[in-house]
Amino acid sequence: MSEHTTKPEVHLSHSQVQEFTQCPRKYHLHRRLKVPPDFMPSALLFGIALHEALALFHQRRLEGRAASLAELHNTFLGQWKAEKLPVRYSRGENQNSLKAMARRMLAYYIENPVCSGEVIGVEQPFRIMLSTDLPPVHGRIDLIEMAPGSELYVSDLKTSKNGSKPAADQLVLYREAVRLLDFPASGIVHCQYVVLTKTAEPKIKVFELDVTAEDVVNLVSRYREVWQAIQAGVAYPIPSWRCGGCQWKHHCDQV
Ligand code: SF4
Repeated sequence: MSEHTTKPEVHLSHSQVQEFTQCPRKYHLHRRLKVPPDFMPSALLFGIALHEALALFHQRRLEGRAASLAELHNTFLGQWKAEKLPVRYSRGENQNSLKAMARRMLAYYIENPVCSGEVIGVEQPFRIMLSTDLPPVHGRIDLIEMAPGSELYVSDLKTSKNGSKPAADQLVLYREAVRLLDFPASGIVHCQYVVLTKTAEPKIKVFELDVTAEDVVNLVSRYREVWQAIQAGVAYPIPSWRCGGCQWKHHCDQV
């Protein structure tokens, strides 16, 4: 591993914290040593490509236009085609089955969109200070809408096989970002996960989260612990079911 150099961290993101929490060794290889991954898991590429297509759907709404299924599916396919790494497919999947699945999911989403108000932000970037002892935290909020009565809807769009409720952290961060960025609103902010299922017959599940001040305090505390561990160079492995699909497995034992 000696040929890889480390660079000091200058910011934090939700995905950094999540990756470190799941496995500090993976974080170390990916983010500190910047070791290139060996392959791209099909599930990850699928999620990224579908996310791009859904972002376009909402961007068109922001522009007062409608997106066609062909346009969205082409966005998905373009993202897929742009992938440089070899794609590793999960059992029972191949390129054609996933492209067909994406088309079904996008068709369902066009017919059953979760529209909570007028779109005022798509892939909205933020960079906020959660605490003076943390670096700036940055990220992007998938969708921000304003409903009649100036209520804000902050949505994170996800794809999932089983449609289960995601962990709360990401929405807690987005809720705090919206507060610190001072979006125009009456003060009522709804935070929701919109989960599109990756199933033969796609469905949409919406999970609204009631974010409290205590949730934010707990989030900052967790981020602080992770940040301190990152600064200390913690890099121990956490072997788990994730190792089977780990893009850095090949390098894991060589650290
Ligand atoms: S193979 Fe497992 S323990 Fe090693 S870096 Fe990947 S997830 Fe972590």
